[in-house]
Amino acid sequence: MTQLAGEQPDRPVGRIRFMNAQRVNLDGFAIEDPGLGLVALASPGDPTPSLVITDGRVTELDGVAEADFDAIDAYIARHGLDLAVAPAAMALSDLAFARLLAHPDVPRAEVVTLVAGATPAKLARVLALLRPPELIAAMAKLRARRTPSNQAHVTNRLDDPLLLAADSATAAAFGFREIETTVPVLADAPSNAVACLIGAAVGAQGVLIQCSVEEALELELGMRGLTSYAETISLYGTEQVFTDGDDTPWSKAFLTSAYASRGMKMRVSSGAGAEVLMAGAEGKSMLYLESRCVALARAIGAQGVQNGGIDGASVAASVPGGLRELMAENVMVMARNLESCSGNDALMSESDMRRTSRTLPIVLAGSDFMFSGFGSIQRYDNMFGPSNFNAEDIDDFLAMQRDWGVDGGLRTVPADQIAALRRDAAQACRAVYRHLGLADFSDEHVERAVDAAGSKDLGETDTLAVVGAAQAIREGGITVVDVVAALDEAGYEAEADRIMAMTRARLAGDYLQTSAIFDERLGVLSLVTDPNDYAGPGTGYEPSAERQREINAIRQARGVDDLRAEQARFAAPLLAVSGPAAAGQDPREVVIGVSPAVGRDVWRCLSGLTVPQVLAELLAGLEEEGCTGRVVRFGDTVDLGRIGLAAARLAGSGIGIGLQGKGTALIHRRDLAPLANLELYSVAPTVTPELYRLLGANAARHAKGATPDPARNPYSDEAIEARYHTTVIALMALERAWVRPDAGPEELSMEGLR
Ligand code: CA
Repeated sequence: MTQLAGEQPDRPVGRIRFMNAQRVNLDGFAIEDPGLGLVALASPGDPTPSLVITDGRVTELDGVAEADFDAIDAYIARHGLDLAVAPAAMALSDLAFARLLAHPDVPRAEVVTLVAGATPAKLARVLALLRPPELIAAMAKLRARRTPSNQAHVTNRLDDPLLLAADSATAAAFGFREIETTVPVLADAPSNAVACLIGAAVGAQGVLIQCSVEEALELELGMRGLTSYAETISLYGTEQVFTDGDDTPWSKAFLTSAYASRGMKMRVSSGAGAEVLMAGAEGKSMLYLESRCVALARAIGAQGVQNGGIDGASVAASVPGGLRELMAENVMVMARNLESCSGNDALMSESDMRRTSRTLPIVLAGSDFMFSGFGSIQRYDNMFGPSNFNAEDIDDFLAMQRDWGVDGGLRTVPADQIAALRRDAAQACRAVYRHLGLADFSDEHVERAVDAAGSKDLGETDTLAVVGAAQAIREGGITVVDVVAALDEAGYEAEADRIMAMTRARLAGDYLQTSAIFDERLGVLSLVTDPNDYAGPGTGYEPSAERQREINAIRQARGVDDLRAEQARFAAPLLAVSGPAAAGQDPREVVIGVSPAVGRDVWRCLSGLTVPQVLAELLAGLEEEGCTGRVVRFGDTVDLGRIGLAAARLAGSGIGIGLQGKGTALIHRRDLAPLANLELYSVAPTVTPELYRLLGANAARHAKGATPDPARNPYSDEAIEARYHTTVIALMALERAWVRPDAGPEELSMEGLR
């Protein structure tokens, strides 16, 4: 029994209960609390920007005297600021500085030169002034690389190598230029690195690989050439959180140098919320603390920063202005002349609309990497935790790229090509594991990995075999050269050549430049070779004509030819012309008028019923009420009102039914105006056989002068227009092509209709 609100005083009314049940209410929203650091852009606890330079040495930074510097202040003061430009940068008003960032007429080079002299508090204050469209303009101008790109997560619950290889090939084919893997089981890491290396090489040339694990092991995998970049060294905005993790800026700088000096592309990770989660924000705003991290990243010589929330994204999203803060973090990295790997990593909301709201501005502006980890696998297989976008969202993302005409780094890959790549990758991976004596996998396992949408489709697997393989890789000292040799000897020469060529290109070192990626011909795109030159309309990155075609050609797009072919599959040897149609005399006769392409190019209605099925229902309805029907095709118009009226004028009863090939139908009478009618089924996709039969019966009742029982258009929750309009356009084009102004009405044979 329904309970009414008044019967339970504490119970909200139905409207509120309904709103409470929407997915956005699974999210957490915090009351702003600067004391806890739960504040996005500015806190009363943030210092006033200041910089005092005495004899070429920073003796005060953001209100703190040298004697009181903490480790972060000290590191930034000694290594993080360009003291030559600092006086000019600090003398600019916040507003004047903010205008330089956002205005397209001010060249990027001028901005990054000045920003190098801005203290963390200064840069935070400047960025807090940028409103959302200005953040977009600043990002479009300030990102380092001209060509935007994208990074994928490729992981699975089982660390299954064949699935990792197939999924890496898939991600590479979709256009991701960096693939990041990690492990649920640390010991599996070397196996994951090898599987992703092989799979990515099958999918595309030049994809960089990361295996995000404990730092010493990650460095070791990189030194063996199995991985090519790292971004897991974390920076924090307060000293306390650093020391809680047994680290200092110096230890992080040492690690960063260790990676970079061994030829690994190296960026660091930071982002809002980490300090709040550790109860170590010291009353500062998220943007100010992140500004310290980014200044530190610059100072320790990292090539870029993965930020924009990352693990703390939902913390930032829980406070007012949180999404502005996340985007400002990315712009800050760019302004410090580093590569931005722009968040969208951790899922920040259960609401599809909030997820999209968070990601879309970054995609519109274009970043060095739109995502610091697009979950190219399903949510449940993402061992970093679900990303803001995952495999569930790839088609949405491809459609969004196309909607806005922007390059989000991805492309559509034909289904048969995906299948072939997945098979090659799984087989090549199996061959290497077999050749190196790491593990053996069955044909059935290969087939399951090829077909799997996720690891749940693999069934039972031998996870101990993976641990064993990983151990053998690590203890056997296996390097990229062994993998190449194994591929070559197992008959995968092309894949072997690809990995070898990439290893050679890596040794040249150009990809260690800021914001470097390889293109698919192993050219390096970086701040040096492909600098961003956006300066307003008509400048900066535009997709090439070829790339734009790739963006536009999503697999769901349909044209008239596709529809013609689809309709032809339903063609039947029915509805032949039996002669010119004449006026009838029988007062119980109703004429069903059909549109020009019916029985020629159009055979199937939007509802999925064929035109003959619909006609059979209409005729049956007429007969139920004691009337007869005949079918006449009108070739001089596509307008349903005119078809119905012309049918009524031929009918002995003066009542006609008009039916368009797409399924829209109406009842007409000979004395009405063309645009009037007695009954109309306007929502063709939802009309059922029963409703068509009822329309026939009602036409008969009109013919007899009886009382019809009008049908209601059925209700649908679907976006009918979004789904059917392109088909309607194509169907109407097919109809229009058969229109001849002088065509007379033709009687169609009803043989086979009943
Ligand atoms: Ca990442």
